[in-house]
Amino acid sequence: MNYSQQRNCIKNIVMENPIHPTAEQVYEIARRSYPKISLGTVYRNLNQLAEHGMLKKICSSYGSVRFDGRIDAHFHMVCSECERVFDVELDEMLRLNDKIRTKYDFAVSEYEISIKGTCGDCLAKREATVV
Ligand SMILES: [Zn+2]
Ligand SMILES: [Zn+2]
Repeated sequence: MNYSQQRNCIKNIVMENPIHPTAEQVYEIARRSYPKISLGTVYRNLNQLAEHGMLKKICSSYGSVRFDGRIDAHFHMVCSECERVFDVELDEMLRLNDKIRTKYDFAVSEYEISIKGTCGDCLAKREATVV
């Protein structure tokens, strides 16, 4: 496997994974296709991809560093139980740009907003243990 194949594989794993995987999670998935890949290689490629603006590096509210395949502005929801990060897409939030511009004369270029809570899977698990 050559260098650019490796990098593409790592990039695709992040882009196809809506949970915003950590480097360790990317490594676990990459290993299925490339058993010889090292965690260090995965880290290095992820950081390089982020430096080149092809991925975004985000820090979850709970401390883990995760990677996002979307580089356009959007919001995140973070689950306090499994720490997975999900994208939020609501028209209201897009309109927020205009509102902020009008009210504060401030042009929004990027968001760093994360909404904390519990994801559907963890809610279901919680309900299952209560019963
Ligand atoms: Zn969860
Ligand atoms: Zn995202």
